[in-house]
Amino acid sequence: MSLNKKLSDALNEQINEEMWSSNLYLSMSIYFDKMGLSGCAHWMKKQAEEELGHAHKIIEWSVKRGGEPEVGQINVVPTGWGSPLEVFEHVYKHEVHVSESIDKLVNIASAEKDKATQDFLWGFVREQVEEEESAQKIIAKFKLMGEKNIVFLDMELGKR
Ligand code: MG
Repeated sequence: MSLNKKLSDALNEQINEEMWSSNLYLSMSIYFDKMGLSGCAHWMKKQAEEELGHAHKIIEWSVKRGGEPEVGQINVVPTGWGSPLEVFEHVYKHEVHVSESIDKLVNIASAEKDKATQDFLWGFVREQVEEEESAQKIIAKFKLMGEKNIVFLDMELGKR
């Protein structure tokens, strides 16, 4: 069974979403690098690599299943944040949004009775649970430590 058009198009939207996410995290890494918080910048660069990896994974799946993967135009990403905490709150908000878009994909795959693609997508569903948790944990630590102690969080995030 090959991918139907509706599902292939929905996967293309997700490819775009993942690439946009990668650029968002790259933009956040620049914000931190400019502040001298190289650990936070490193964490964001790793995050950007992971998101690009997700895009590649979906492209590979679409090719394998006879879909029509496409690399579309990527919209511009934000560049400025008010504070480091605001950046991580944005990360959490964004990951919740990504989880919702993955859920929608599962619903489409289910409606199209494509079991193999559903199985492929469960990996992403599980990964989103981890993504949301890790952002929440960073925010919680940040709030406990306070703005002045961000250097300690920066050291920890640099070890990723
Ligand atoms: Mg992703």
